[in-house]
Amino acid sequence: MANGSSLGSASSPVRVAIVGAGPAGFFTADALLRSESPVFDVDVFERLPTPFGLVRAGVAPDHQKIKGVTKTFERTAKHHRFRFFGNVEVGKDLSAAELRERYDQVVYAVGSASDRRLGIPGEELRGCHAATAFVGWYNAHPDFRDFPFDLGTERAVVVGAGNVAMDITRVLLKSPDELAKTDIARHAVEALRNGRVREVALLVRRGPAQAAFDPRELEDIASLPGVRVEVNAGQLVVEPTEKLDARQERNVALLGELAARPKVPAERSLRIEFLASPVELTGDERGRVSRVRVERNAVSRDATGRAVARGTGQFFDVEAGLVFRSIGYLGLPLPGVPYDPKGGVIPNQEGRVCSEPGGPVLPGVYAVGWIARGPLGVIGTNKSDAQAVAERMVADVATLRPAGESLRGHETVAALLTERGVSPTSYDDWSLLDRIEVDEGRSSGKIREKFASVEQMMNQLLRARQRKDD
Ligand code: NAP
Repeated sequence: MANGSSLGSASSPVRVAIVGAGPAGFFTADALLRSESPVFDVDVFERLPTPFGLVRAGVAPDHQKIKGVTKTFERTAKHHRFRFFGNVEVGKDLSAAELRERYDQVVYAVGSASDRRLGIPGEELRGCHAATAFVGWYNAHPDFRDFPFDLGTERAVVVGAGNVAMDITRVLLKSPDELAKTDIARHAVEALRNGRVREVALLVRRGPAQAAFDPRELEDIASLPGVRVEVNAGQLVVEPTEKLDARQERNVALLGELAARPKVPAERSLRIEFLASPVELTGDERGRVSRVRVERNAVSRDATGRAVARGTGQFFDVEAGLVFRSIGYLGLPLPGVPYDPKGGVIPNQEGRVCSEPGGPVLPGVYAVGWIARGPLGVIGTNKSDAQAVAERMVADVATLRPAGESLRGHETVAALLTERGVSPTSYDDWSLLDRIEVDEGRSSGKIREKFASVEQMMNQLLRARQRKDD
């Protein structure tokens, strides 16, 4: 129930700004807009002109089923108390303080925009990249369109055993003709067609029981036509006392099956090296990575009982002209918003933002999704996360501005942005772009052809808006 004041009634809804239009932002908007008492009014701000965050720019192009969740987001966006402000960067076009003045509650749902580094010598060499950049590049994210991915090498090393490592391995090994039917970026499919990558070596620092990927991701790669998966049975050691959950059991069983397969000739291959950590990258005379020095690990238990990888002092080399570190995303700080550099998150207590890690809660400020809990979990994880944060926001309405006191300039956000030369995109604008992308894709046998630059999107929009007005 709303407090005794009229705040939260249909005539005086609680004004909420959500920063970030990815799954966490949309699920939070949906949960708030479903509330009948109090009533919420939701403005979503997004740095790009387009919505959907990692569903558009993170989910692999050949995983279209997962992208189906945008149908739910579309329903949310149609709500009469939902507004979308695309092409608006909070921290640059609007400050955190300005949002705080204009909204009763502000929710940060900005995800994890960067990546973790290995911290080994040679990581700065050309040809060594963050998997997250590669993902952004093949998904036509404007930040990564011009990234210098040179795929003119036979072997690539991927470090890490999460689902992102599986995604990029599959994209490197899959037939470009198959990928060309999806919504993969045009520049990426051309580079993959002209590329020479035939082998991926996946370096996993711990054992098979600790691999973070889902078995169906490995199954997908193992069933690609013309692709052989090599696993060394000697590395598939699982401690007899180790309790495996269903996912781990399937992984271990599948890896065992793959290890037992005969080594047939194949056009392309994946070699999975367990108990292996890169310790140094060396480059050729042109400053491009050419070799990865790898230390063989053994798994032991730390004081908490967690399985940890420890180097054995034995080394081997892998020749490779491309190295992708796929060891996790990292949240970045936003100007004017508390940040915990240790976890790469906004410090919070169950979604309520704290002034610093362990510090007091900042009333009316929330965080949800990866920027709140770290870069773990699938899209659906954000739904329950968002629901829980929305429940806290409902509970906190009673502590908000007193009856009759109105917020400063909530209705003037659009004018303020125009004054600053920012052209926000609305959800209707996105619907226009969406249609153009789908039509353009259809004409070349693809699901969609994404715009890969903000300039292109804004030009198309100008033209489409003019056509609509004519
Ligand atoms: P992740 O699941 O956390 O995997 C990170 C991997 O990097 C782990 O195998 C980890 O090994 C390894 N690692 C970390 N630090 C390392 C180091 N210094 N040296 C070597 N290896 C290191 O992260 P992610 O793959 O980026 O995925 C993020 C989230 O998105 C996950 O929850 C994932 O399931 C989800 N996702 C889902 C899908 C899908 O459903 N299809 C697709 C993509 C992503 P340790 O375990 O030894 O630390």
